[in-house]
Amino acid sequence: MNTSTLAPSTQDIRALRVSGSRLWQSLMDLAKIGGTEKGGVCRLALTELDGQGRDLFSQWAREAGCTIRVDAIGNIFARRAGADNTLPPVMTGSHIDTQPTGGKFDGNYGVLAGIEVLRTLNDAGVRTLAPLEVVVWTNEEGSRFVPVMMGSGVFVGAFTLEHALAQQDTEGVSVRDALKQIGYAGPLEAAHPVGAYFEAHIEQGPVLENHEKVIGVVQAALGQRWYDVTVQGMEAHAGPTPMELRKDALLASSALIAEVNRIAVDRKPHARGTVGFMEVFPNSRNVIPGRVKFSVDLRAPGDAQLTEMDAAIRAACERVAAENGVKIEIEQVVYFPPQPFNPKLVEAVRTNATDLGYSTMDCVSGAGHDAVYVARVAPAAMIFVPCADGISHNEIEDAEPEHLEAGCNVLLRAMLDSAGIAQ
Ligand SMILES: [Zn+2]
Repeated sequence: MNTSTLAPSTQDIRALRVSGSRLWQSLMDLAKIGGTEKGGVCRLALTELDGQGRDLFSQWAREAGCTIRVDAIGNIFARRAGADNTLPPVMTGSHIDTQPTGGKFDGNYGVLAGIEVLRTLNDAGVRTLAPLEVVVWTNEEGSRFVPVMMGSGVFVGAFTLEHALAQQDTEGVSVRDALKQIGYAGPLEAAHPVGAYFEAHIEQGPVLENHEKVIGVVQAALGQRWYDVTVQGMEAHAGPTPMELRKDALLASSALIAEVNRIAVDRKPHARGTVGFMEVFPNSRNVIPGRVKFSVDLRAPGDAQLTEMDAAIRAACERVAAENGVKIEIEQVVYFPPQPFNPKLVEAVRTNATDLGYSTMDCVSGAGHDAVYVARVAPAAMIFVPCADGISHNEIEDAEPEHLEAGCNVLLRAMLDSAGIAQ
């Protein structure tokens, strides 16, 4: 070769590594915006603090040579040009909004890992064939505004832009107005094609840590069915009413809760069954409960299994109603189909992690993520890294710098594989 500036060789590119300390510093800097006394972050979607976080992200992306575009729901796309900009971008990112008692890593890691990938490529003078994009999705958490995963949901057409913009917080402020207030109501209306999407994320569960693995190769996101259940019995005095003459709505509910658990336990290791909310009427010490409302949350990796679980809970409702002389209504209120990730991209995560010397394990995502929506319109995959004690959505959320660095190195490799190197 006789060019004066040599493009990095394949060997140079295989030797590329992100800077774990730079990534960590960015995480800590972003965490100062909305930082809480207990070491967490409270940066609710579309608040002034979210605006400040977005500004800092945008500044970092510009410094990394990106052009920034914002769409009408406030998703921020930071693009690093490739050699062939007619190709759809290889995208990565996540969200920077948090729960009220959120941590420094949920979402923020995926976004800043993307920035770190760009910085690493800039330092090494690597140009990709396809452009790269780092995205900040609006309101993933759904804490101030529902629905959750709002920005990615609009992007993939899960619901309309108008529907999302019209949602209000508890003070009556709409998404539309909140976006304007922080200056992130962008002009882009149509979604653009995505060549591939990777999202790095803390696991938010204890499995990787328990197995002492560094990289979770995420096969799929669990499908979810949420229900509202109402058990109608009869309130009566706790003293004079003999046991056989009661219609105890709470006793019937407790039988159903045990069923929810059994339905999931029978389908180990990936099925889940949870009752997390309950309202007892009249909720008085010496009154037999006449009415109980509770939630049921069933999750499974395959739709056939989830359908089977749906049938099982409905059958249990009928049986428990008959056994207890109560009326039980069950209504499905949310359905997310199981979402497999793209096999080729999943394999790229695995082989690159192994090649880099990191231990891996196959896993599923029990939680929703922006990647789950993106997978509906583009090849997508996720990279999980452990978090301390599996705790997330908590101010004490924590992760090891070397695990975050490892996930980012895998992200770098996977994105380069998808984007190609410009010669
Ligand atoms: Zn998240």
